[in-house]
Amino acid sequence: MTTARKIFLEESEMPRQWYNLAADVKCPPFMSPAGPVPMEAWGPVFPMNLVEQEYSTQRWIDIPEGILALLMRWRPAPLHRALDLEKALGTPARIYYKNESLSPAGSHKPNTAVAQAWYNKQFGTKRLTTETGAGQWGSALSFACALVGLECKVFMVRVSFDQKPLRKLMMQTWGGTCIPSPSNETQAGRDILAKYPDTPGSLGIAISEAIEAAVSDPTGLTKYSLGSVLNHVMLHQTIIGLEAKKQLDKVGERLPDVVIGCAGGGSNFAGLSFPFVYDKIHGADIDIIPVEPSSCPTLTKAPYVYDHGDTARMTPLVAMHSLGHSFVPSPIHAGGLRYHGMAPLVSRAVEDGLMAPRSIQQLECYAAGMLFAKTEGIIPAPETTHAIAAVIQEARKATEEGKEKVILFNFSGHGLMDLVGYDKYLTGQLSDYDFPDDQIAKNHEELKGYPKP
Ligand SMILES: *Cc1c(COP(=O)(O)O)cnc(C)c1O
Repeated sequence: MTTARKIFLEESEMPRQWYNLAADVKCPPFMSPAGPVPMEAWGPVFPMNLVEQEYSTQRWIDIPEGILALLMRWRPAPLHRALDLEKALGTPARIYYKNESLSPAGSHKPNTAVAQAWYNKQFGTKRLTTETGAGQWGSALSFACALVGLECKVFMVRVSFDQKPLRKLMMQTWGGTCIPSPSNETQAGRDILAKYPDTPGSLGIAISEAIEAAVSDPTGLTKYSLGSVLNHVMLHQTIIGLEAKKQLDKVGERLPDVVIGCAGGGSNFAGLSFPFVYDKIHGADIDIIPVEPSSCPTLTKAPYVYDHGDTARMTPLVAMHSLGHSFVPSPIHAGGLRYHGMAPLVSRAVEDGLMAPRSIQQLECYAAGMLFAKTEGIIPAPETTHAIAAVIQEARKATEEGKEKVILFNFSGHGLMDLVGYDKYLTGQLSDYDFPDDQIAKNHEELKGYPKP
């Protein structure tokens, strides 16, 4: 084994198929009051080629040549060995990370954005609507729409719109339109504003607005796009883990002992981990850890239920861990990991004992992000610091046990657009916060009478 810092793949070595975990982990169906939701019901919302993918249980799905060509603008992404972080920690563990911060939008999100834009273009869609929290998804989709020639309209959570003007400018530079949510453009937005004029907004509200804006276009040429949670999004992201496998193999490394990713809606974590979940199902001994903020403890504290994906209850019921669809995070804790629900495939895999979720407080996460920046050099996105904090916990455990563990994690994005968060950390304005259990119970009162997964 070499001690290369970066392990590359040739373009010709890029995976040609995505791995679909739905072949190996069985999720309960989407539900409506009339029973399981048939594929056709999604027609007004998504193009049918993506709906078919959403429902597919085929294990391997070919990546179309047109999408491979789009991905090759920045992929394959390098696998790094975190030699200097290892040294700083004095750990016998070998730490590797996939660097998803090298995409044009700075995160893993373009992996699915270009795939979704391409499938929509094939289908005849003219315009995509979406929501964005911290702004990464809105910028990723604006970028993807620019490449394939689609219009893009983004509803951005109000508090982030005000705090992160640079993300809006990225969207505009790629030709997208970005408006703060809740807005006056939709009934869902107007209803919330009438009730709570000063609301900071939430992902759940912005999703309601983006769906309404798509389905209310009488031409039918506007579709909605979601950047996480859904099966087809997890599928597109598996290129991360499939590349990582080839790269570990290239340097003679064994299967990892620990696989880690931060989890908001679950997509970057799923992208890295699902190909290894396949190995785990087939007997490999791997600890697979999704990491979430203690202020939004979806997998670690919230029950596995049927709930809506959005605040206005426009989506069907989804079987997932949920803090309740009316969850609104406090403004200081707004960011890419503040969604009330979770990808159904991640939730189901947790219920099946294939993954062991962990929550970490934000001060520990920022401290981990600072250590990473000072050793490896790249400033992580605040979301990514959650993965790094868990990596450091696992590396320390390896030191205590004296074990040469192989730890693999996903570096989901850089933090160059999120330095305001670091400013708050450095000037002592951040504090730890546990989401109160009684608030979860209160939110769940609204789910009375819903079916149980
Ligand atoms: C959006 C985002 C996340 C959280 O979303 P997932 O779907 O859980 O991956 C994490 N990291 C970065 C850098 C992001 O942009």
